[in-house]
Amino acid sequence: MRSWVEVSLGQIRQNFRAVQAVVGEAVGVMPIVKADAYRHGAVAVSHALEAEGARWLGVSNVQEGVALRESGLQSRILVMADFLAEEREAFEAHHLTPVIHSLENLGSVTVPYHLKIDSGMSRLGTRAGAEEIARAVLNAAAPIEGLMTHFASSGNYESKQTEAQVQHFTEVLNGLRRAGIEPRFVHSSATIPIAYQRREAWGNLVRPGHAIYGYVSPAKNGPRPVLSVAPALTWKATVLDVKEVPAGALIGYGGIHRATRPALIAVLAVGYADGIPHRLGNRGQVIVKGKLAPVVGAVSMDLTTIDVTGCEDVRAGDAVVLLGSEGGVSINAQQMARWAGTISYAVLCGIHARVKRIYVD
Ligand SMILES: *Cc1c(COP(=O)(O)O)cnc(C)c1O
Repeated sequence: MRSWVEVSLGQIRQNFRAVQAVVGEAVGVMPIVKADAYRHGAVAVSHALEAEGARWLGVSNVQEGVALRESGLQSRILVMADFLAEEREAFEAHHLTPVIHSLENLGSVTVPYHLKIDSGMSRLGTRAGAEEIARAVLNAAAPIEGLMTHFASSGNYESKQTEAQVQHFTEVLNGLRRAGIEPRFVHSSATIPIAYQRREAWGNLVRPGHAIYGYVSPAKNGPRPVLSVAPALTWKATVLDVKEVPAGALIGYGGIHRATRPALIAVLAVGYADGIPHRLGNRGQVIVKGKLAPVVGAVSMDLTTIDVTGCEDVRAGDAVVLLGSEGGVSINAQQMARWAGTISYAVLCGIHARVKRIYVD
């Protein structure tokens, strides 16, 4: 294999249990498996989570929900990032649950739904006040099952935005209750408000994505996280060739690296088409036989060159670790993201479908 990921379903299950332990038995956990479970493979991950007790799973779109249903998943599936008119029928046909984002859409909803409040992020969700929402909910053709919102800056404790969002959301919820509307599920929290214990934002259901895959982003000026999880994915690539180049040799496109001494270069069977950020050129590192080796030269579409001088026992056919641990050295998606000037979410979601997935315990 040129490049592959090893996904530990056991670690994913353990991360799910860690989230459940933090929020307690009174709060449900809805793992988010959108974007093919952050590229860990939504079908395998969702079935593992269902076996672990997850009653709800969250996806972005109808297509993702249908694929899970067709794989035999029984859990409830919440479709979070809106839907197109032509996808409407799929909710009933595949027993999917829509998130409704505008009161106009309440007129045509035919299945129990979750209503999203835009509490200040200015993305999806209704900005209407409680009374107007209550009127629309009472007139809707199907019952409301959940009320939700999403935070824009929950990891930034220097910002008051989360408090303002919680306050707005609570006001809407209380207004609906005064009108006799009691949504069975109330939820606002993704990984960060769970991990940093913003209990007031939990409601009775939480929506962890990143945490399920083993990541909690650092908070700005915040408390220490109470949630302990570990990455479930290891990404490897095969060495295609190892060659000596003389001092002064230029490496790869644009000749952006010049060997300052005779160097041993290993060519890896992975490139930006597989999801290695192009910006790792001359910047990233990989793990070779338990030691860090630098990326030298530009990352190509299908190939990456690293300097393995001093690592004499590297041969064609060996595997190197792009994300993961070996010999006490580790590189995770947050580290790769720092080198690439992006975020860990984008590193994970960037792992291309052509990178083979292998499931391990
Ligand atoms: C992606 C997403 C989540 C999960 O976010 P993480 O930070 O990965 O835990 C939760 N809720 C909504 C609405 C999302 O879009």
